[in-house]
Amino acid sequence: MLAPIRMNGTPILYKRVDLEMKALMKTKPGFGNLHLLDIPEPVCDATGIKIKVRYSGICGTDMHIYHDSYKSYPPVVIGHEFSGEVVESGKNVKNINPGDIVMVLPSIAWTCKNCMYCKQGYYMFCSERRSIGSGVNGSFTEYVVVNEEMVYKVPSAISLQEAALAEPLACAVQAIEELTEFHAGDWVLAFRTRTNWLTLFEFTSEKGMQCNCYRDKSGFNKAENCQRTWSAYYS
Ligand SMILES: [Zn+2]
Ligand SMILES: [Zn+2]
Repeated sequence: MLAPIRMNGTPILYKRVDLEMKALMKTKPGFGNLHLLDIPEPVCDATGIKIKVRYSGICGTDMHIYHDSYKSYPPVVIGHEFSGEVVESGKNVKNINPGDIVMVLPSIAWTCKNCMYCKQGYYMFCSERRSIGSGVNGSFTEYVVVNEEMVYKVPSAISLQEAALAEPLACAVQAIEELTEFHAGDWVLAFRTRTNWLTLFEFTSEKGMQCNCYRDKSGFNKAENCQRTWSAYYS
């Protein structure tokens, strides 16, 4: 809440007098149910890092949460691609300090630490895993508290806007560099994607590949039709 600071009875400044912040929240399951609310600022515990959000991208996942076609755990603040400045770090945090400019790996906000995958470090496969912005509070707000293993310092050559796109870029890099075998001169087809397509496009162009995006309102599972259209365009 903002309270006026007055001079001769006239408000000259509004100062925050409690620890509330604006947040875009999915308040309950179902279509829509997104609301801009005042909620308490998160508290930074001994292992936590409190980040002031500077930039946050809109991912396809956020659209799916709006349409209720992606699992979320309301009430939850949405948004997960973000960069910001560290304003507080818990006493057990070793390598991140207030003032650091950081970006965040959102997908391992909570894991069980007990299953076969967690014990081997493959947290992504934990069946109880929850991500920032769907399973725990995310970045369409002013402050987020995360754990140290999720935080990466942003090199000075990278702007905060660019840093907010590190997560979708990482998806594109993994798809092209690690999970597939594309080479310069190959045609690459991306369909029904958003930020990820833009990063794929940039990345494949850098690598000498040519990328086209196909979008079909009728849904994801039109790969056959997609291939036909693509062939018609480029064969
Ligand atoms: Zn995303
Ligand atoms: Zn697990």
